[in-house]
Amino acid sequence: MSRSKLFRRIVFCEYTGFSLIILFLWMDELLDLPHLLFGSMPTPVNYVECFFETGIVLSLALLSILATSTLLNKIERIVMFDPLTDSMNRRFLIENLKHEIHRCIRSNSTFSLMLGDIDWFKQINDKHGHECGDIVLQKIATAFKNRLRAQDMICRWGGDEFLIVLPDTSPETGRNVAETLRTLIEKLNIIYINQEVPVTISFGVYDDDYSNVRPDYYIRKADRKLYEAKNRGRNRVV
Ligand code: GH3
Ligand code: MG
Repeated sequence: MSRSKLFRRIVFCEYTGFSLIILFLWMDELLDLPHLLFGSMPTPVNYVECFFETGIVLSLALLSILATSTLLNKIERIVMFDPLTDSMNRRFLIENLKHEIHRCIRSNSTFSLMLGDIDWFKQINDKHGHECGDIVLQKIATAFKNRLRAQDMICRWGGDEFLIVLPDTSPETGRNVAETLRTLIEKLNIIYINQEVPVTISFGVYDDDYSNVRPDYYIRKADRKLYEAKNRGRNRVV
């Protein structure tokens, strides 16, 4: 289990436990539980009163547990996702990638890792403005999400860089997927204030051995390929 999931479970269990203890103490106060269990019952008037009060306390405890769960969901998104593109942030990606590397080493399988960088993104910002640049980043992230599988990891690695990890994928399939994503972005029809904004992206795809346990080893190699893609003229997969 990942550290974030463990943290989430611990907080949730502790809070639920805390709410249940308060609920128990309250019910004990209202119903005089030892008497109810081992001795005389409350009087009928008290019984009705207790019934309603217990209902209210129970609802409050359930509401506070639900609120904790919603709050934890929000904290989780803030801590793990990039707010602009709603894709994973670096920390979350690295955590997941470590699991994937260990899984591959154990099961002797492979994954695909690719680093994409938007071509001439500074020019897009300069020509159409920063807001347009932000929209381009969002559209690209959405296009990736729509095209890839639910288990694939999309991360905003830096300003205009996306790191994508495809679990349980052969190097050849990885290269094909990178090529599909490249064409997908090339064909995106982005219009900003009645002006067409052409966008292309270059990819560096890792396809070497899978015995190294360090995520940065794979990312560094993909980065070198990306550099090569840029040098070879951009809008390509290396
Ligand atoms: P290259 O083809 O070599 O990648 O050229 P480039 O112009 O894309 O160069 P580079 O990748 O170095 O430029 C990244 C630019 O991304 C620089 C920075 O102004 C811009 N940027 C970084 N973060 C954001 C952001 O959140 N929003 C917007 N609009 N721009 C950003
Ligand atoms: Mg760029």
